[in-house]
Amino acid sequence: MQEFELNDYALETIAVRAGYRRTAEGEHSEAIFPTSSFVFASAGEAAARFGGESPGNIYSRFTNPTVRAFERRLAAMEGGEACVATASGMAAILAMLMGLLRSGDHLVCSHSVFGTTTVLLNTYMVRFGVEVSYVSLSDLGAWKAATRPNTRLYFCETPSNPLGELVDIAALARIAHEHDVLLAVDNCLCTPALQRPLAHGADLVIHSATKFLDGQGRCLGGAVVGDAERVGKEVYGFLRSAGPTMSPFNAWVFLKGLETLHLRMREHSTNALALARWLRAHPAVTTVHYPGLEEHPQHALADAQQSGYGGVLSFEVHGGRSAAWSVIDQTRLLSITANLGDTKTTITHPATTTHGRLTPEQRQAQGITEGLVRVAVGLEAIGDIQRDLARGLDLLQ
Ligand SMILES: *Cc1c(COP(=O)(O)O)cnc(C)c1O
Repeated sequence: MQEFELNDYALETIAVRAGYRRTAEGEHSEAIFPTSSFVFASAGEAAARFGGESPGNIYSRFTNPTVRAFERRLAAMEGGEACVATASGMAAILAMLMGLLRSGDHLVCSHSVFGTTTVLLNTYMVRFGVEVSYVSLSDLGAWKAATRPNTRLYFCETPSNPLGELVDIAALARIAHEHDVLLAVDNCLCTPALQRPLAHGADLVIHSATKFLDGQGRCLGGAVVGDAERVGKEVYGFLRSAGPTMSPFNAWVFLKGLETLHLRMREHSTNALALARWLRAHPAVTTVHYPGLEEHPQHALADAQQSGYGGVLSFEVHGGRSAAWSVIDQTRLLSITANLGDTKTTITHPATTTHGRLTPEQRQAQGITEGLVRVAVGLEAIGDIQRDLARGLDLLQ
């Protein structure tokens, strides 16, 4: 029943080794524990477990060994004290909000967050008396100006999807802490392989494990990482009462996904940078949005707070919607889907899919033009991805 000690190991080692407690069977690969409940040696032990006097598993809505292994490994990779795994990325955001906020609290959120996150905030959280303000992600002055005496939380995604805008996490954390506000960063696009927000001063990290942590488009899951009090007690307390917990099967898939995360993120980043440079040189492309390009306005910040630029980029073509759609429709290899973080490259038209619910004015304010195409670059050979995009782009000239 030995457990790997973290000590001073590097991220790659932690990703492969941390978090799992080998059973008496001596298995080398991590076992799955698909069990809803756990048995006790005696009535007295059951009472002690339920009473909290003796540690141990009771029921898989509370704890499960496979889920715990994933939680411990991800916590170690993000550098957090505690992690709770959830049924989806949205369940992670919900659990964080429900665990930490109460009626009368205010939160500030960046405009450019995942669409369903804004639905959760604007349609549901407001019903329970939580107020929300939106600001431009990189505008530190706007975050400060939006802060009120009852502000409890800042929430952002960096880099943003699909335009690759960044915020200086350390600077935003300083503003948050001056005002006694917590900073939560949705680290879905970078993952801990490329960016560790807690090391820059953030208090909480959110994950949609559905994306790069799985990395092969198989399972839904999510996680909240942070300190032992807020995440280990308050967020966990909501989760065990409300129940959107991660299944042991999914936890096992994500646990194994973490082992190759750094290799995959490196390759996603290499492919995306090569594609961004190739697109920039194509005459039909007017703009490429990718923090890895030297001309990106926040390229230096990306170098400072990320160890890679990630797998998501977008580009614009002349000719608006019809031109963008024709580039998408000419592809034969790329998958036309709004998902991201898969080995398979995906392509989508943000203005009519992920950002379709926004008003035209909101889209314009956020830079989501009709000619914008997003590509979540997968692990296929870069030449094949380029050839597939050239089919439509070459017709536009
Ligand atoms: C997909 C996504 C989510 C939601 O995750 P689900 O697993 O689909 O619930 C949240 N944030 C970001 C940035 C995402 O891309």
